[in-house]
Amino acid sequence: MRRRSIQRIGLALLVTAVSLTLSTPTAAMPDPGTPMQWREVFSPDGTITKTYLPQEKTATQLAPADVVAQADVVTIQYSGPSSQRFDMVFIGDGYTAAEMGTLRKHAQAKWDEIAASAPWNKYKSFINVWLVNIISNESGVDNDPSPGVNRDTALDMHLWCNNTERLLCLNEAKARQYANQAPGVDAIVAVGNTAKYGGAGYRDLSTVSGANILSGQIALHELGHSVGGLADEYYTPGTTYSSGELLAPNVTTDSTGRKWASYLGRATPDGGVIGAYEGGHYHQYGVYRPSQDSLMRSLNKPFNAVGLDVMDRAIGSKISGGATG
Ligand SMILES: [Zn+2]
Repeated sequence: MRRRSIQRIGLALLVTAVSLTLSTPTAAMPDPGTPMQWREVFSPDGTITKTYLPQEKTATQLAPADVVAQADVVTIQYSGPSSQRFDMVFIGDGYTAAEMGTLRKHAQAKWDEIAASAPWNKYKSFINVWLVNIISNESGVDNDPSPGVNRDTALDMHLWCNNTERLLCLNEAKARQYANQAPGVDAIVAVGNTAKYGGAGYRDLSTVSGANILSGQIALHELGHSVGGLADEYYTPGTTYSSGELLAPNVTTDSTGRKWASYLGRATPDGGVIGAYEGGHYHQYGVYRPSQDSLMRSLNKPFNAVGLDVMDRAIGSKISGGATG
């Protein structure tokens, strides 16, 4: 598990990112030549967009100040050896030593939300859930409630990342080191001590506002990418895709939807029937998705029938020794 986690640090370069509402129109332009990455931005109304920002430090670029100390790892739920289970790791930022109980409560609430949603609900008893008790010197996150408010926290979580109010970024290198202190790591959810709606996605690591009940949706969407390998089904209006067939199971360049042929015409949990709907993978034209409006297109929606089965198989493949359907 730990080996895989280290490989993922490299993968983080490919980072997806997530976040929320575009509150200010312009982000500061970095110097030309600065390596860029993108993050998803999530709005409270469920829409998802992308924003570009300078690439963060990688594990090989760690400064001594980025090497973290050992933290206590708390078991929220143990279901079996990590080699036979899916391991979900919660970490927290902006919680002082006196607020470990609050962190536990926030992490538990996010886990409860994940565990209640399909297909996680089917496997919830076969998942290990760990919480790394990261202690911050000060309570809260930066730029909350407004830009310019700074707090001394372990992971430097901050709203207004890239000038986007609801984009909740952190020191990814530190976050992954802490998460890797858990016995196994298949996915990481970082909760921040704030009630403002916010989050971000770094593939297998998502950030969410600990005290905001809507933000758990961000983690659910990101798990679709990192666990299921699902593509985004939203798009930027006016864009056309003109390259080759896509690898992800839920997008295709084939307007007949042959990729998910056995699902065509079937009812789907997000409403309507499975078909080949134009628009997806960031392009309005030339890419087709299986349903009108699934979780990979908008928050507060379920996976569509195609994505649901992909997720089911992906989670199930990590579990042996007693998982049932
Ligand atoms: Zn996404």
